[in-house]
Amino acid sequence: PHRYRYHKEIAARLRRLLIANRGEIACRIMRTARRMGVETVAVYSSADANAMHVAMADRALLIGPPPARESYLKIDALIDAARRAGADSVHPGYGFLSENAAFAQACGDAGIRFVGPSPLAIRAMGSKIDAKRAMIAAGVPVVPGYLDAQDEPSLQAAAARIGFPVLIKASAGGGGRGMRIVRSPEEFSEALQGARREAASSFGDADVLIERYLDRPRHVEVQVLADSHGHCVYLFERDCSVQRRHQKVVEEAPAPDFSAQMRADLGNTAVRAAQAINYEGVGTVEFIVQGDEAYFMEMNTRLQVEHPVTELITQLDLVELQLRVASGEPLPFRQEDLAIHGHAMEVRLYAENPRKNFLPSSGKLLRLRLPDDAEGIRVDTGVRQGDTVSTFYDAMIAKVIAHGRDRTQAIDRLIGALRASDIVGVDDNIGFLTRILDHAEFRAGAVDTGFIERNYDELLPSQDDSLQTTLAVAAVARAHHDRLRPGQARDGFRLNQPRTFRYRMRVDGAAHDVELLESQAGTQVLVGGRVVAFDALQQDGERIQARVADVEVSARAFAAGDAWVVRMGDDQQVVAEVDEHARAAALHVAGGGTVIAPLPGSVLSVLVREGDVVAAGAALVVIEAMKMEHTLRSLAAGTVVRVHTKAGDRVKDGDELIVLEKAAPAAPPTAA
Ligand code: ADP
Ligand code: ADP
Ligand code: MG
Repeated sequence: PHRYRYHKEIAARLRRLLIANRGEIACRIMRTARRMGVETVAVYSSADANAMHVAMADRALLIGPPPARESYLKIDALIDAARRAGADSVHPGYGFLSENAAFAQACGDAGIRFVGPSPLAIRAMGSKIDAKRAMIAAGVPVVPGYLDAQDEPSLQAAAARIGFPVLIKASAGGGGRGMRIVRSPEEFSEALQGARREAASSFGDADVLIERYLDRPRHVEVQVLADSHGHCVYLFERDCSVQRRHQKVVEEAPAPDFSAQMRADLGNTAVRAAQAINYEGVGTVEFIVQGDEAYFMEMNTRLQVEHPVTELITQLDLVELQLRVASGEPLPFRQEDLAIHGHAMEVRLYAENPRKNFLPSSGKLLRLRLPDDAEGIRVDTGVRQGDTVSTFYDAMIAKVIAHGRDRTQAIDRLIGALRASDIVGVDDNIGFLTRILDHAEFRAGAVDTGFIERNYDELLPSQDDSLQTTLAVAAVARAHHDRLRPGQARDGFRLNQPRTFRYRMRVDGAAHDVELLESQAGTQVLVGGRVVAFDALQQDGERIQARVADVEVSARAFAAGDAWVVRMGDDQQVVAEVDEHARAAALHVAGGGTVIAPLPGSVLSVLVREGDVVAAGAALVVIEAMKMEHTLRSLAAGTVVRVHTKAGDRVKDGDELIVLEKAAPAAPPTAA
């Protein structure tokens, strides 16, 4: 590792750093700042008053109400906070205002150092259209596409010229939002509208570009670092090909199956791209790679979510380097001083439900265990047990990062860490991530961006087989609990009589009747009136060993609030006991024609009116929640008899939005 000579000097120069962000990245930045002797100032919305980043900072200032627009995205409020706190510098983190040139400018105007590139460089890469133009001029290869007029006929004609499939991208886009694949001319118009709507609502800019949609490409990006004295190096590459809906799920460094020649070529191209816009600080040049062709996609002019994998293989601290460059120090090394050590891999652990199309989940973290002390494991998080994952912000709970001597060791360590993790209170993607890492194709080496989609069924939990088992285990655990408190048992308890426990339990919105009949002969379990072969082998506190339908299972079941959590293998399932009078349950069970909000959010548009006749699959309402659009569709043909909502409404989980009179019995709607 490199030792820096300017340590004292920088501590003297950057004295007080305001972090204009929240969550794990705010905490991660503070750790380095503190180590360097720089004071830290946090900002927070009223939703985050008790957040970890607030507790960690030397000082924290309230900047506004929960919606990001009125707090973390509010430039005046942030500048005002920096002034009040006497901060001499601002770190924007990622997301929020990190790539906002106006914010960088406002910091400069207020005499506060913005830890990042100049407003000019941010602007040059802020629009994908302008960025591609600049790169073409700099001789950097870009994905063939169209960057011109915005009227639909021109765009449609360009798509035809490029040849289907094409990709429509929001010029201001990020995080995979505002992007639509179009496979035929007929789909173009609807896809364009969708992309524009998402672009306008997420980024305030509806401009789009069109690219040829590459088949089975890889996403490989290069970390660059430039100082203010004209030096620029690359800190090698990261492969982020494991994606879902164009969002990164697993990231690793170095890229597997990459020759030294490709590494150097791509690195040098990235440096050329950065130098073309006089870049300063850390940045990432993203490429789409197919065979031995690599095309520039975009440049992220900030610290990236996945920067830790680069830190682990280079043994550098990118935040420290950012602060040093921001203070005017020259780079402390040259390209030839840098080397790769081992292999690193990161997963993004989210509060979301893979079974419900990855619907973001919110709630209190009743239990949170992340093994940050295991060998080769690093955990970057911004939440603690007892904290609440709210609907206002990104649902990432933590990044779990493994380092190993080679790729296999990194994978094994990461899987081990995930298996030792425990999250209760919100849904999570731990099982999904584990199955990705353990998949033979992924273990074998480089995969392309279609990996998840192609292997979807294998990566999702096999629900049908496990549902009976889950319910049986939950019922056994519940009965055990009741037995300890006989006064509250819901059985007809009589001495020396077989005992019966009856429960109605809900899993993923569907209710099931589960009965346990206990007698001298053992326990008989019925799910939905049908006998499930169940042999309890051992029950010890939370742990239950049993043979269910001839399969031996080892599970943990514990109470969490009103629900039971059953954990088996890599998956956990929340089993809620149905209160017969609960409205949401009633809607699911009885009101097949009632469209309810599956999660809290705001209504973007209502696509039907009372009296409309709709076909099965028709889009009814578009909800925005956690920065994503969710289209609620009708699962059956019918007539709209009532519309209870309008664009702009804030809705709660379970709110009744639309009543449909079914043409035939309908199932509850799904979010897509
Ligand atoms: P964002 O700003 O949302 O990150 P990018 O332009 O970086 O948008 O693209 C995000 C992801 O979408 C890429 O990592 C890649 O998987 C996919 N992608 C982007 N452009 C193309 C393309 N032309 N063909 C195929 N996939 C693409
Ligand atoms: P990356 O390549 O680093 O994932 P993207 O441009 O794809 O960058 O997305 C930016 C990242 O920042 C996403 O991973 C997203 O989860 C996160 N992000 C986006 N908006 C916000 C926000 N408002 N607050 C916190 N994080 C955000
Ligand atoms: Mg990108």
